[in-house]
Amino acid sequence: MRIGIYGGSFNPIHKGHTELAASIVRQGLVDELWLLVSPLNPLKQGATSDIEEYEHRLDMARLATENIEGVKVSDFERHLPLPSYTITTLNELRKAYPEYEFVLVIGADNWRRFPCWYHAQEIVDTYSILIYRRPGCELDEVMLPPSVHVVETPLYDVSSTQIRESVKQGCIMRHWLDEKVLAYIKQHHCYSA
Ligand code: ATP
Repeated sequence: MRIGIYGGSFNPIHKGHTELAASIVRQGLVDELWLLVSPLNPLKQGATSDIEEYEHRLDMARLATENIEGVKVSDFERHLPLPSYTITTLNELRKAYPEYEFVLVIGADNWRRFPCWYHAQEIVDTYSILIYRRPGCELDEVMLPPSVHVVETPLYDVSSTQIRESVKQGCIMRHWLDEKVLAYIKQHHCYSA
């Protein structure tokens, strides 16, 4: 079975994330997509002062994906050393589930920063990577290594940062949130100033 690994802070999860995940599965690019909620993103250290509790982010991700076929939420990185580097996670996943093939799913925005990732070359040499387009991020497709493929998915110009800001300012961007996530944010007073 081919498993797509789609990692992030998901702080909070929004429709940009879920529509993308559903599209990747619907297109048959992977058999399942595992949404790996990261306890701490190594490249976001220092910008995490308003990061919600890990349990809240996991709960919201589960609520937003519970009705999306083939998309699962994983807390696999919970038990790994921090910060959670992608190469470590992928290697540990392979050890834990030797029967599965793991494929990394990342956005064009992350591909631009990819050379800075810990052991970037090892990731490219060992795993397949699916890159989806992001608004304003051109991809030089001629220069991509053979293990890297661009996939076509709908583009949604929204970020968790914008959602958090909208909550703080009291004008929450509700149309980008699953109804249950919206209710959860209100109930638990997430991201309140
Ligand atoms: P933040 O604004 O806090 O940086 P984010 O919205 O970019 O968050 P992350 O949790 O960092 O979300 O994203 C997890 C993954 O989802 C990343 O690979 C990122 O490229 C991707 N992603 C973020 N927003 C979108 C979107 N609107 N459409 C598709 N993918 C997205």
